[in-house]
Amino acid sequence: MFLRSPLSRSRRTLSIAILLASTQALAMNEAEEPQDKPIPQAENVQLDQPLTEEQKPAAPAETEKQTQDKSAPAGTEGDPLPQAENLQLDQPIEELEELPAAASEPQPAETAPADAQQTPADSKPRQTDAPAPEQAKPLRLLGAEVPPATATRLAWSPSQHFEGVYSSTAVLVVNGANPGPTLCLTAAVHGDELNGIETVRRVMYNLDANNLSGAVIGVPIVNLQGFHRGSRYLTDRRDLNRHFPGDPRGSSASRIAHSFFHEVISHCNAVVDLHTGSFYRTNLPQLRGDLSNPKIVKMTKGFGSTVVLHSEGAKGTLRRAAVEAGIPTVTLEAGAPMVLDELSVSHSVKGIRTLLNQLGMVTKFRLWGEPEPVYYNSTWQRATTGGIIFSDVKLGQFVRKGDLLGTVTNPITNVRTEIRSQHNGRILGMAMDQVVQPGFAAYHIGIQAPQEQISPPEEVTAEGEQAAQETAAPAAEAKPVESEAHADEAADGTAEMTESQSTDNDGRDED
Ligand SMILES: [Zn+2]
Repeated sequence: MFLRSPLSRSRRTLSIAILLASTQALAMNEAEEPQDKPIPQAENVQLDQPLTEEQKPAAPAETEKQTQDKSAPAGTEGDPLPQAENLQLDQPIEELEELPAAASEPQPAETAPADAQQTPADSKPRQTDAPAPEQAKPLRLLGAEVPPATATRLAWSPSQHFEGVYSSTAVLVVNGANPGPTLCLTAAVHGDELNGIETVRRVMYNLDANNLSGAVIGVPIVNLQGFHRGSRYLTDRRDLNRHFPGDPRGSSASRIAHSFFHEVISHCNAVVDLHTGSFYRTNLPQLRGDLSNPKIVKMTKGFGSTVVLHSEGAKGTLRRAAVEAGIPTVTLEAGAPMVLDELSVSHSVKGIRTLLNQLGMVTKFRLWGEPEPVYYNSTWQRATTGGIIFSDVKLGQFVRKGDLLGTVTNPITNVRTEIRSQHNGRILGMAMDQVVQPGFAAYHIGIQAPQEQISPPEEVTAEGEQAAQETAAPAAEAKPVESEAHADEAADGTAEMTESQSTDNDGRDED
């Protein structure tokens, strides 16, 4: 079931409907609703009567959650929470009305081993019989208690809501039968980054709670507002990934960030935040993490054949805020925004499964390949003129100083300008063919040598791009949004590192 216990059917249905609406946007093979089904009659309500908390639709999590927040910190032992239902996460939800019953009873019997059906009451004696002295614990999350050997769907809805309605986003939970760490997977913190959504789906729906040590929490779409509009940003055009860990009394983005950070992230022992390149740029599947932190180094080594780029992460990112809160976190970047690509998704899935194996949480996935090199430094090569960019290199290609990376051709004057590599390195990210402004960060080159051997490249400050935007703002559709967002943040007094302050990276692409 969808969460929290004493829900009326209509509330469940509504929250599920909202969720489904978002998943349907991705699903190609959605079944048609049967036409002959009886449809429940709508209730007669006094529209001018304000909704009480109890009646508010689709936000069952909200009311309890807030009450809890006030009375006691999340996860406090003692106060009884409704127990989450055990679901077969990989079974599609077809019949909305029947979901609660259908999901709880017949389905586990078909495919899951007998253990899956055990009630929490009889799970304890069984585990006492097991040789392991330590027992798996129920996971308390979002106002529900998820017993060991249970997979379920919960929902998180930020306390800040727009358009006067709550919309909750799914939080998938698989709590293993055996004790272990809690790994969290978050995707679509930027609403236009789709590869992570599919990655989380594939990873979560393949987990078997009975053969899992620890728990995996998967949030396929963190920024539901942006996702609905195909946008990187929240509806107020702020970048959610610059507002963590958030502030319950701050801007709307800060409040959403705070809610997510405290309701979900604070329950994690490690986090993988999934992203793609931004603004028509695509990334070679790569991890980004602060390699000065030994726990993060260990985590990056768990991903098998995946390139690692050292970076502390911009202030306000989920990654940096989580690390500062003591939770080792990496960003997994793969592909481009608004594009679902199989190579990026399957690489990411493979990497996360390898990590689950390395963390000792599962044993069924085989280890994957030799680790890829670690890049301690990287630099952006920018377009020096405006025009249409076509590339001569491919993602992942090794380049030498002087190699032709691409050309920018002015469609009016037909002047053609070459962009040549100023470094020996590897293409970790690059612009897709498009119209660019002078200063547009076009090729992200990873440099393997340790940082101290590299003199900071001059061209990598973002000032060129910033200036280009200021002069050519009307032509750049997506960019003024970002510049404005930054202006807003400055006006809010939010501590913020702007691109021009960031040194070795294009802040726009970071996380
Ligand atoms: Zn992103």
